[in-house]
Amino acid sequence: MSLQFHTVPVTPFQQNCTLLWCEDSKRAAVVDPGGDLDRILAAVEERGLKLEKILLTHGHLDHVGGTAELSKQRQLPVEGPHEDDNFWIEQLPMQTQMFGFPPVESFTPDRWLNQGDTATVGDELLEVHHCPGHTPGHVIFFHRPSGLALVGDVLFAGSIGRTDFPKGDHDTLIRSITEKLWPLGDEVRFIPGHGPMSTFGQERQTNPFVADKRFG
Ligand SMILES: [Zn+2]
Ligand SMILES: [Zn+2]
Repeated sequence: MSLQFHTVPVTPFQQNCTLLWCEDSKRAAVVDPGGDLDRILAAVEERGLKLEKILLTHGHLDHVGGTAELSKQRQLPVEGPHEDDNFWIEQLPMQTQMFGFPPVESFTPDRWLNQGDTATVGDELLEVHHCPGHTPGHVIFFHRPSGLALVGDVLFAGSIGRTDFPKGDHDTLIRSITEKLWPLGDEVRFIPGHGPMSTFGQERQTNPFVADKRFG
């Protein structure tokens, strides 16, 4: 398969910022540059990648905090999340105060993403699925040929995203997981926003929040 990835945990929240690149062209996207840009850019240089865009799963600070600076520095367009997360992005300066992060600028994505959209990385194509619940505008990226999904804070190995933030909703999140993620296939490997990778099949068996047996 010709889509490659490398994860760089960033910020005090150890958010899994992920480099995705097309093996043939070496063109790359940074998914969720939450901060620690020096470490992200070192991983880019090390692999000889050509950054072409920033992709965002949702508007939380630990996922988007480095976006304005990186986008400006490297002239990169920003794609995602869904427009319903605009209120989070507009409130970035407030989010930094709340979590004691150094101040960051807000930004306006060049392209909002919707259910059924696609996003390219070099010659590779990612499917976009809108998965609200953790935040209303959360999207996930799915590369069908290699069965790889980047799910942000929708689903974790053994857990699911928090829903106690403004406009979060538990039932909506469960529906996003069971109706948008599970149909992609049990064999799909996913990179969550935090913590280790897993597969959808594994979570359907053992995740206490969304395992099949919970729903009878
Ligand atoms: Zn989040
Ligand atoms: Zn997160």
